[in-house]
Amino acid sequence: MSPTHEAMAAEFAVPDDIQPLIDRVHAFIETEIEPLEDDNQELLGGPMAYLDENERMLDEVHELQSQVRRRAGEEGLYALHMPESVGGGGLSQREHFYVQEEIFRYGTGHGSGLTRAMMAWTEGPAPILANLDEDQRAEWLDPLVEGRETACIGITEPEAGSDIPNIETTATKDGDEWVINGRKGYITNAVFADTAQILAKTDQADGIGGMAMFLVDTDNPGFEVGSINQNIMMDGITADLKLENCRVHDDQMVGEIGDGLPLALGWINWRRVNRPGMCVGMGRYLLDKMLTHAKDRETFGEPIGTNQAVSFPIVDTATELRAVRDMALSVLGDIDSSSDLTRLDQPQHVRRKMCQLKYYSENHLFEWADRAIQTLGGHGLMREGGVERVFRVARNLRIPAGATEIQKRTIAETLGLTE
Ligand SMILES: Cc1cc2nc3c(=O)[nH]c(=O)nc-3n(C[C@H](O)[C@H](O)[C@H](O)COP(=O)(O)OP(=O)(O)OC[C@H]3O[C@@H](n4cnc5c(N)ncnc54)[C@H](O)[C@@H]3O)c2cc1C
Repeated sequence: MSPTHEAMAAEFAVPDDIQPLIDRVHAFIETEIEPLEDDNQELLGGPMAYLDENERMLDEVHELQSQVRRRAGEEGLYALHMPESVGGGGLSQREHFYVQEEIFRYGTGHGSGLTRAMMAWTEGPAPILANLDEDQRAEWLDPLVEGRETACIGITEPEAGSDIPNIETTATKDGDEWVINGRKGYITNAVFADTAQILAKTDQADGIGGMAMFLVDTDNPGFEVGSINQNIMMDGITADLKLENCRVHDDQMVGEIGDGLPLALGWINWRRVNRPGMCVGMGRYLLDKMLTHAKDRETFGEPIGTNQAVSFPIVDTATELRAVRDMALSVLGDIDSSSDLTRLDQPQHVRRKMCQLKYYSENHLFEWADRAIQTLGGHGLMREGGVERVFRVARNLRIPAGATEIQKRTIAETLGLTE
């Protein structure tokens, strides 16, 4: 049993009705993922071994991730967050928290993250896609839910990040087709996606009312993956996109003209409500590392944890971890009882709660990761230790899916402080 488990077992309890699922997730990691990691130490063992000289993830490593994803799909573990009506596991957000916590309790794994690949992430199906019609679902959604294929979403552009309505990508009507032109930047999984969800401004109406979301096959001749974004995560999968006279059929639009922005925000909201499970899971990983090191490492003839300078930051972490977990479970329960993530029109109080969950849990994770590095000393900064990677992930989380300031901006708006 890990030190955190031992000391705080009751605090991290899982409800009886969810425990069998968590046991299945745990068993999948032990029986399917760990042996795969052991057999592929050469590719996965080194902190950078999974990347090529341009920091693109190696195809062999991506194939290992795909293997995990497909197996999780076969076991019904990959898309637990999606409604049962589209083949998902039908978990509530509150229930899904426990699954994420369990998966991220292992840290981020190696840089390539084989453990994380067992659960739908940015590359997977967003609940908002349950709005696709039946034909679209068979073609675009089923392969994602089953883990057979992956997607990416292109919202951000060189001139439009937080300010999504400012995008410049256009979709011009031509008979029963649309011709898409534009550039997208920082797109996760752009490198390997089978499908891209592209937000564009149509020529059929002005402003937000003219925005639409299109499903684009990534082998479309008008679709091109640009440079790899060599980012703090060293994920090897994030890149720019270029759409040049990219022709798609009418039936590749999700919903209607005017649904584009709500669909993009719906996708972003899905990522926001996922943050607390991730952050608490990684927080538990960090707390384990801190407790172990503080008890084992001696200086001046004493374990370093006997010094309050070392133990108090650990105490703060344990306390905040409990607070963030309880807050998340309570708020996710509220969201479950008043809305669901397939809705295009989220009530104002639900939008507020999603933003609160995101920034509150991410900011705490960042502090926990910083403390963990301080506790572990030089070892905390070494790539092979695992903590350094969580620190980089934690720093990253505060930008994508809406930077911290944008969460607070939305919360201020829902409190009537701005329009
Ligand atoms: C690793 C990674 C993966 C990503 N994956 C994707 C993806 O898959 N798909 C996708 O579409 N995008 C993706 N993004 C883009 C991400 O969503 C944007 O980076 C993010 O929305 C911020 O936009 P920006 O970088 O243009 O910053 P800007 O919008 O230029 O903001 C810069 C800073 O100013 C602050 N700021 C801006 N406006 C205000 C305001 N009105 N009030 C207060 N503060 C403000 C911001 O909070 C931020 O701190 C990814 C980004 C990263 C780093």
